[in-house]
Amino acid sequence: MEMVATPKSSPPFSYLLTQVDTVKMNKRTAIVGGGAAGFFVAVNLKEMMPDMEVTIFESSSRVLKKVEISGGGRCNCTNSFAQVTDLSQVYPRGHRLLKRLFKTFNHRDTYKWFEQHGVKLVTQEDECVFPASQDSHTIINCFLNAAQKQRIEIRTNQRIGKLSELSDYDNIVVTTGGATQINQLQWTEQEVVESVPSLFTFNIEDSALQSLMGTVAEETTVFIPGTKLRASGPLLITHWGMSGPAILRLSSYAARLLASNHYSMPMNVNWVCANEAEVRQELGEIIIRHSQKQIGSVRPFSISSRLWNYLSAKCLGDRADYTWRDLNQKEQNRLTNVLTNDSFQISGRSPFKEEFVTCGGVSLKSVDASTLESKTRHGLYFAGEVLDIDGVTGGFNFQAAWTTAYTVARAIYNKR
Ligand SMILES: Cc1cc2nc3c(=O)[nH]c(=O)nc-3n(C[C@H](O)[C@H](O)[C@H](O)COP(=O)(O)OP(=O)(O)OC[C@H]3O[C@@H](n4cnc5c(N)ncnc54)[C@H](O)[C@@H]3O)c2cc1C
Repeated sequence: MEMVATPKSSPPFSYLLTQVDTVKMNKRTAIVGGGAAGFFVAVNLKEMMPDMEVTIFESSSRVLKKVEISGGGRCNCTNSFAQVTDLSQVYPRGHRLLKRLFKTFNHRDTYKWFEQHGVKLVTQEDECVFPASQDSHTIINCFLNAAQKQRIEIRTNQRIGKLSELSDYDNIVVTTGGATQINQLQWTEQEVVESVPSLFTFNIEDSALQSLMGTVAEETTVFIPGTKLRASGPLLITHWGMSGPAILRLSSYAARLLASNHYSMPMNVNWVCANEAEVRQELGEIIIRHSQKQIGSVRPFSISSRLWNYLSAKCLGDRADYTWRDLNQKEQNRLTNVLTNDSFQISGRSPFKEEFVTCGGVSLKSVDASTLESKTRHGLYFAGEVLDIDGVTGGFNFQAAWTTAYTVARAIYNKR
């Protein structure tokens, strides 16, 4: 005999109404911003909820513009994170939140996601991940094809300036990218952290330094004296000052301090990533082994000869032509100091290959840390650079966009 389970008593009518309302309230999603984060929310949401009506509103005439120009047209879409032991090393802002969200969607998931969607990826020696085609259009086509297949509506030339414009939608996802001015985010009615640029190179007025243009010091630490702000890595001398991974990282960590000082601040360089005792020992050994050789002909720590000539001339003047045994104690101290604590004055900033991100945006305090839904407005979500999250170069900014976008899609799906 067939057993039919019957409820002991019928649920109250009000309960049924709430259920019906919840279903009805999760049918239409508006995504504001047709960039990386906006498309990643849209495609994932449609894959999780094929019946969801999803519309992307994009203010300009073309979507995915930054993806197109990213990574020099190759799109550095994530990183292997093999050299990252703590997310704070690559995300000056937002690392705590991302640590939590990476449990659900991290760089390995990104890798899988793109490969499952037909985009083959390759990891370079420096751990940056690119499409194997070395062409950002592969990523763009992946999103556009998925959007077409899943009937995601894309409305270009549609700038959203008020939440009330989207009152017909059950969910609004804001993925408008980095805002250069705080008032650009007023319409979201959220707490906002002031925006300043991050990821730039330093202008340094020092003609002797600039004449070394193109020289790379492989292992340096750069720091702002009197603060804990420091970054390590290769440093590139340019015709306007300094660039390279160490400088870009410092620009990111010191973004707010530099902005408040109008990009005019002292900065010190340890050219060899070694402490004073290690440098003294290295110089001492050279003096013993190469006492009769000219200072310029034996370079400590394998520094490039152009840089060594600059540094030795800077602290020894004409005596840089002398032999190592001619160095007195004071001169050894000066050399130690210039190698470990060389001082410069930053006098402005310049863009790095047009790449920049903004530090600041919608405050992380105003969103739920698990769903990225506004704490003050039900059904309003944020993903991508619009949030007060930003990373250093190397694919970390796109990874933050994919992770936060996936989180939002999942949160909307979980409401069903
Ligand atoms: C030149 C350059 C190169 C880069 N290269 C890399 C890289 O290789 N790897 C990496 O990880 N990161 C890179 N970045 C950073 C990365 O591009 C961004 O972090 C990422 O694009 C952020 O994605 P998003 O979707 O949040 O914002 P965006 O890509 O900026 O998209 C936001 C979209 O919203 C639209 N919009 C804004 N306001 C409104 C509105 N009110 N209504 C409707 N639409 C609106 C904008 O027009 C835009 O299309 C690069 C950045 C630049 C500038």
